[in-house]
Amino acid sequence: MFFLTNDDGIYAAGIAHLAEAVEPLGAVFVVAPDRERSNISMAITIDRPLRAHQHGENRYAVDGTPVDCVDLAIGELLPETPALCLSGINMGQNLGHDVLFSGTIAAARKATFLGVPSIAFSMPWITGQRDKWHMDTAGDIVRNVVQETLRHGLPEGVLLNVNIPNVPAAEVRGVRIVRQDPAPYDSHVLTREDKWGAPYYWIGGKRLDAPNREQTDFGVVLDGYVSITPLHADLTHDETMEHLGAWDLRA
Ligand code: MN
Repeated sequence: MFFLTNDDGIYAAGIAHLAEAVEPLGAVFVVAPDRERSNISMAITIDRPLRAHQHGENRYAVDGTPVDCVDLAIGELLPETPALCLSGINMGQNLGHDVLFSGTIAAARKATFLGVPSIAFSMPWITGQRDKWHMDTAGDIVRNVVQETLRHGLPEGVLLNVNIPNVPAAEVRGVRIVRQDPAPYDSHVLTREDKWGAPYYWIGGKRLDAPNREQTDFGVVLDGYVSITPLHADLTHDETMEHLGAWDLRA
């Protein structure tokens, strides 16, 4: 059984395409937020109870976050431990630092914490054409990655971050195993005036260019490749551990 979730909400086209892609491979069980909950990473709801509304067989909408959905699905709603957790297909890229903000990645990460191997799928939007999606491109790629993951398995705590170019299938140039792009976004605050003359602010930023872009998720997806990046939750920086060893730190 495949457990499907996302952060765009149960009504998003991406999760319907994900379900369609893997239904030929096995039973699908969907537990997803009842509305879009993108960009909230691993937020959890512990100040109120959660409700799960059934939307047909093996399909639940939860009034919580993506990580809430994973907890509820694996801890309570699923009739068995799923073979895989599949998160997405996110309608928007999850490249480089995006993975730190993403609810799609967070859901997959949470499932690995509960011992379920996970894959997050995303497709970048096209600048200026936010309603244009080549979701049909994803089907064969999703099935292939899922089948290979079932065949080979994943190390404990490791999830796959898969980004599929938003182009017709014939234009996909191949698959690249690449690092997470290291470049942060710059900070850009758009300030405008509301109808009462008070300022409002819209945050966001542009991605800063990074060296070795041809070896990172961001770079290869720009070039028309599917990117696959194995991720884990350990954020420890090993080189700085050694550096700190030389400091005169006392308890
Ligand atoms: Mn999203």
